[in-house]
Amino acid sequence: VNDTKTALVTGANKGIGFAIAEGLGALGFTVAVGARDDVRRKDAVERLRVKGIDAFGVPLDVTSDDSVAQAAASIERLDVLVNNAGIGGPAPQDPTSIDLGTIRTVLDTNVLGVVRVTNALLPVLRRAASPRIVNVSSNMGSLALRTGPIMAAYAPSKSMLNSITVQYARAFEGTNVVINACCPGYVATDFTGHASTRTPEQGAAIAIRLATLPDDGPRGGFFDDDGVIPW
Ligand code: NDP
Repeated sequence: VNDTKTALVTGANKGIGFAIAEGLGALGFTVAVGARDDVRRKDAVERLRVKGIDAFGVPLDVTSDDSVAQAAASIERLDVLVNNAGIGGPAPQDPTSIDLGTIRTVLDTNVLGVVRVTNALLPVLRRAASPRIVNVSSNMGSLALRTGPIMAAYAPSKSMLNSITVQYARAFEGTNVVINACCPGYVATDFTGHASTRTPEQGAAIAIRLATLPDDGPRGGFFDDDGVIPW
């Protein structure tokens, strides 16, 4: 019997996703590196293996039904799913002049992508003893905080992701599937043009915590390092 838990991280080839993969790997998880680009995925798997982590690559474009179905079919065991892949979309995103295509594109990745991946993986995830799902959101999605620049595609996409997380949590009531959303904080990655001193490892910590919650942990919440985020 193989007792090693497996975690799939989407968008794990770089940034916060890579750091989440590395952190879970260091905790003893076998890590499935979900990434859409062959070269970047293989490179990330190699960088994890060099650190002694049991990693393998899973071709995965979260906007493609086919890609997601193939990824799901290739995974035999899954204990943790981290929906990390996300895009900001082109700036500026002034709501009064935004291209509707920008909103569609951002929602397709940040919201529909999460539903697509989650639902495809649920059958295998449900077979685990303590399945965990973590959605990497943003405090820019908080209606209460109104933080960050005006981003009429990105911010609402994360509000909707938080809302869908709650719907999933309700659907999982009475089961062992624990789902939550998190904000990594403002982190130095390609996404932010590295305009922060906060490292991907620091940003990954809350996702790792939620990925390893006990069975009686919180469900349907939105958290950062300091606890519950009002949204
Ligand atoms: P990066 O741009 O560094 O990384 C994003 C990752 O998502 C890449 O691996 C990218 O792959 C992948 N990705 C994008 N689209 C797809 C897709 N269609 N299919 C599969 N993978 C895809 O961003 P961060 O690491 O900074 O962000 C990770 C998450 O954290 C995002 O959800 C973001 O919204 C969130 N976040 C980040 C903050 C920050 O300050 N950095 C703050 C708050 C939230 P590829 O290399 O192929 O493009």
